[in-house]
Amino acid sequence: MLQALTRLCRPGARLATYSVARPVCDALGEAGWEQRKLPGYAGKAQRLQAWLRAPGASSRARSPRSAPGSALVIGAGLAGAACAQALAGRGWQVRVLDEHGAAGATSALPAGLAHLRPAALDERLARLSRSGLDWLRLALPPHCGAALLCGDAVLMAAQQPRLAALHRHAQDWDARWLRLLEPAQAAAASGLADAPRAWWTAGSVVAAGALCRAWLRAEGIELHAGSRVHALRRDRAGGLWQAFDEQGALLAQAQVCVLACAAGGPQLLRASGLDAPGIPPLHLQAGRGFVVAADSLGALRGLRAGVMSGCYALPLPAAAVAAAGLDPERRWLFAGATYEHAGHPAWSQQQAWEHIGAGLRPWLGAELGSAGGWPEHPPCQALSFRGERAGAADRLPLVGDWPAGRDDTQRDLYLSLGMGSRGLLWSALAAQCIASEIEGEPAPLEDDLLQAVHPLRAALRRRAAPASGATPRPAPAPASRGIAPRDGGR
Ligand SMILES: Cc1cc2nc3c(=O)[nH]c(=O)nc-3n(C[C@H](O)[C@H](O)[C@H](O)COP(=O)(O)OP(=O)(O)OC[C@H]3O[C@@H](n4cnc5c(N)ncnc54)[C@H](O)[C@@H]3O)c2cc1C
Repeated sequence: MLQALTRLCRPGARLATYSVARPVCDALGEAGWEQRKLPGYAGKAQRLQAWLRAPGASSRARSPRSAPGSALVIGAGLAGAACAQALAGRGWQVRVLDEHGAAGATSALPAGLAHLRPAALDERLARLSRSGLDWLRLALPPHCGAALLCGDAVLMAAQQPRLAALHRHAQDWDARWLRLLEPAQAAAASGLADAPRAWWTAGSVVAAGALCRAWLRAEGIELHAGSRVHALRRDRAGGLWQAFDEQGALLAQAQVCVLACAAGGPQLLRASGLDAPGIPPLHLQAGRGFVVAADSLGALRGLRAGVMSGCYALPLPAAAVAAAGLDPERRWLFAGATYEHAGHPAWSQQQAWEHIGAGLRPWLGAELGSAGGWPEHPPCQALSFRGERAGAADRLPLVGDWPAGRDDTQRDLYLSLGMGSRGLLWSALAAQCIASEIEGEPAPLEDDLLQAVHPLRAALRRRAAPASGATPRPAPAPASRGIAPRDGGR
């Protein structure tokens, strides 16, 4: 436990405990904590103060596994990159296989928003999004955080009907997470001349594609681009997960395998004979957004923070400007996004542009189409981005261990799928859930939230539901935090 705690601390962190027991002092010492004993309180002879040595003392913490192993991650989008980075940071050798390359599909998104999903304080989505945001900030690669991320808030136009209920819950929230801004305050916070009343929600603008590539550059990660995985098999003798291409050739193998290949995940499970009933289907929704020079967008010219209403607009962080090869002397914005259902004809650029303009109306100040508002057509230098989101109907990701064969020979397979339209919010959190499960560390989420995102959540809920007429009982503790009993459960 002290090793896991150390991993969450920065060098210089301070710790105090009433305990001066030898095992506690030894464990703290091994994890890199300087200590001193002081006179205790309330009749106790001694107490302990400790501080974490710098530099890099936290990396000396050892996991409960005797040694880090090897991992295979299928998918080099945000979900896969976050998992690879979380495992590599724990000393694992990670091979990432992707049919395209780093951020080669939907995670090529130039930039997007990650923010608190405001609701009642204890509501599941609010708790999950708070954790998601915390873990995203903790997972930022050192030294390049400022280029990847901008702002500490996302402003949501308050007049949206779906936010009406927020007023009832707002006073429960600490103002660092959620507060209501009058128009003048919203204008100052957003950098706009004219702004509506808005909810200030903790959040940031994130350079999605650049973050994904930065995660994949961590030491210990080997990226294999152009590697489409056709099937997975666990080699029973060696206990390794093996990935094969369409011709049956072995691409790579490792002790642990994480499927982070979005819509390709369920397909790959089926092709590998590892499908299991109960996993929520993933629905595909295409979406489009535009990168535009700020000075071509009249009313939004001064935008400094992410703003939302039906659609969103955000200033492009420096890393995204560099990745797109844009002029760093100019300011650039990204405006999105459409939701286009699979099976319907794709929207034209013009349709998408008009839809986004209409969705941003509360932030445009002037009437649509007028000089101060939204141009009638995308400016000629606008870059269009289109991608496909794969998500479950309940909009929660599928994260956890996969009870592949329900026997011990098929263990060590994990899913991080279904990021939908919130990949920036969920990826780092999902990666921590999986890495902590693999390493036997305390989970980053409470049990009910782990169950809410587990790929077999429907089955877990059914198990927990009382039979009609029966006295309600608390939900059974999930085995291995998920469903497949392992090592007698935890
Ligand atoms: C227009 C638009 C705007 C968006 N805005 C936001 C936003 O503001 N905030 C936010 O949080 N999210 C936003 N999103 C969603 C976000 O982009 C996604 O949630 C995220 O990129 C999903 O990441 P992923 O790693 O799950 O999937 P992907 O990025 O799709 O990565 C999956 C990878 O798996 C690979 N793969 C698949 N099958 C195989 C196989 N068999 N073998 C090998 N490789 C395979 C693919 O090549 C791909 O690289 C937006 C999306 C769109 C389209």
